[in-house]
Amino acid sequence: MHAGLARLQALVAALERVVAPLLSLGVRLYVAQPFFVSAIVKASDWDKAVYLARYEYPVSWLDPVPSAVLGLAIELLGSVLLAFGLATRVAAISLIALSIVVHVSYVASDGTLFAIVLLVRYAVAGGGAFSLDRALIRGLAGSALPLADREVRIARAVTRYGAPLYTLVLRLWLAAALALAGASASGGIAYWIPVGSAPQLGLVVGGAAIGLLAAGLATRPAVLVLAALAANVPMSEMGAALHGYWIAAFALLVVHGAGPISVDAAIAALLARRARARTAAARPHVVIVGAGFGGLSCAIGLAASPVRLTLIDRQNHHLFQPLLYQVATAGLSAGDIATPVRGLFRDVEHARVLLGEVTGVDPMRRTVSVGAAQIDYDYLVLATGATHSYFGREEWAPYAPGLKRVDDGIDIRRRLLTAFERAEATADADERRSLLTFLVVGGGPTGVELAGAIAELSRFGMEQEFRRFDPATARVVLVQSGARLLPAFPQALSDAAKRSLESLGVDVRLGARVDAIDADGVAIAGERIRARTVLWAAGVVASPAGRWLAAECDAAGRVRVAADLSVPGSANVFAIGDTASVASADGAPVPGLAPAAKQAGAYVARVIGARVAREAEPAPFRYRHLGNLATIGRKSAVADFGFVQLSGTLAWWLWGVVHVGFLVGVRNRVSVMFDWFWSYLTYKSGTRLITGSSDAD
Ligand SMILES: Cc1cc2nc3c(=O)[nH]c(=O)nc-3n(C[C@H](O)[C@H](O)[C@H](O)COP(=O)(O)OP(=O)(O)OC[C@H]3O[C@@H](n4cnc5c(N)ncnc54)[C@H](O)[C@@H]3O)c2cc1C
Repeated sequence: MHAGLARLQALVAALERVVAPLLSLGVRLYVAQPFFVSAIVKASDWDKAVYLARYEYPVSWLDPVPSAVLGLAIELLGSVLLAFGLATRVAAISLIALSIVVHVSYVASDGTLFAIVLLVRYAVAGGGAFSLDRALIRGLAGSALPLADREVRIARAVTRYGAPLYTLVLRLWLAAALALAGASASGGIAYWIPVGSAPQLGLVVGGAAIGLLAAGLATRPAVLVLAALAANVPMSEMGAALHGYWIAAFALLVVHGAGPISVDAAIAALLARRARARTAAARPHVVIVGAGFGGLSCAIGLAASPVRLTLIDRQNHHLFQPLLYQVATAGLSAGDIATPVRGLFRDVEHARVLLGEVTGVDPMRRTVSVGAAQIDYDYLVLATGATHSYFGREEWAPYAPGLKRVDDGIDIRRRLLTAFERAEATADADERRSLLTFLVVGGGPTGVELAGAIAELSRFGMEQEFRRFDPATARVVLVQSGARLLPAFPQALSDAAKRSLESLGVDVRLGARVDAIDADGVAIAGERIRARTVLWAAGVVASPAGRWLAAECDAAGRVRVAADLSVPGSANVFAIGDTASVASADGAPVPGLAPAAKQAGAYVARVIGARVAREAEPAPFRYRHLGNLATIGRKSAVADFGFVQLSGTLAWWLWGVVHVGFLVGVRNRVSVMFDWFWSYLTYKSGTRLITGSSDAD
């Protein structure tokens, strides 16, 4: 399929996705509103309601009072249910029945006809995305309620087979009304077709557009033309309600198109079949390794591009690392900050998610190795991040775990909570002291946040829960080899962070270099600190991506990339995020932060998109620094935006908003907000679970 046409189709589909739920809600409210108003008017003057039922629109088979009661009940209940989208089909069918009685027994009007036709849509297709039905249907289908499963299946079948038919009938109905506009407005065909209110359009353009509408060919443009012509026709006698109905009907066709029973649909199916046959082979294959911040943002950036996409990660989830320390300190559950990657690409047909560990790249053959398999690529994006470095002292790793993966967070949480449990069990005071000493190595954001959260957990989270000691007596030591905490922040914020930590009782040791770590504690410049829990938040080293490519790397193992983030010598291979080294506009290295990785991912998606479309490539990558944030406990943080620096409570709120905003997935956002709110008010954490086990315990 031509790239321009494909893009237009993608744009229309995206518009439909966004606008359709809103339109469905809008039309539902619009149709419900006159019934609701009528019900209120009748309820406020009951005598008049009975009078009308007796003399104005008597129903031959019902007495006036029951007739008035039934009418009022249907109007009131039906309109309210319809507005909320609850039991929408039942509500719509009741209102249709009432409207047919009114149309047949009282006055036939185009307004009632439109109400019936629009209500049929909800009887067939249900309430749409913004309805209570939609929120409840899955649970209802799987519930033990009698007949629920069968009803849901019937409703789905009605939608599947009824909706295409409905759109066809709507199209033909409107086309007939427009074609016959001006014909006798009463009796005969005008009884069931809104001929009376249909605007009379010009013969040539109007006639052609009506023909296209009936055939379902170029339907959206045809309806737009009809709407434009109708707008020029005086429809003064119609009244606002009829105007609204015509607009609603036109809008439904513009947003949803002609439906599956149309020439448009036949052409689209033909083009799609041809495109599919060509695409698989013709689309360039983009392989992205790593579904972290960089890889995910690149994959999302390419979701609408004409490429085949393979996203490989050794984990099945994207992890929001900035909040991992909260999992480690029992503030949040792992599921709150990790999102399964596969689900994110459910709707991207040309994207494939692969769980596997990449072990090498062959740039000559253009393949990556995943286990025993070799995967070909046309473009390769390495977004494999970084991990903690023990500066050549790997033997410290078992005694001082770092924080990088979900498992690390859960492992540290287990170590922390187990230390408290063992302190309760032991009768040895020295042993207890050692168990209740928590030492964090590294005074960057992760070390500061860990130390603050451990101090809070021990001081506020567990009071009165132990009998042999007061958890608030736990000692938290933060060891930093440099002269100040948070070296990437201005001095004033480093000082503020130190003060905040000390106010929580953290023992901050600056200029203190760790000489040794073992099962019993740490040696710092000759001093021995007995601590059974030591955590590592000091150095980072890039993934081995540089080694796979035999590329030039910096001291931290990051691949030195060109200004377009490609690896020098391999123009179709890119390295981004924590595994790449690139200078920002002012010459300073782009920092290892989540926003930097996201920006790089989005940029590379644009570069690849431009190359695939044979368009001009974007200007060299420019990193926009959004600021540095670090939090200390439950009410203090430091924030550096360059032009403004904040510390204390305001910075803490800002930190919270930013982190919730950047989380992936609505469920995670809501869940994190709820957990924080709950523990903020109660000081209680619901995630103090000791799970898994380790030899180090
Ligand atoms: C504890 C912690 C706290 C942090 N706090 C903040 C913060 O507050 N603010 C901030 O901006 N930044 C923070 N960062 C840094 C930020 O998380 C990183 O800069 C960011 O994650 C880098 O994104 P990335 O895409 O390069 O790598 P990552 O997000 O680390 O993603 C790398 C992905 O590659 C996968 N992978 C790695 N190797 C392979 C392989 N061989 N095969 C297959 N898959 C592989 C991994 O499973 C992972 O999913 C923090 C980092 C940590 C560890």
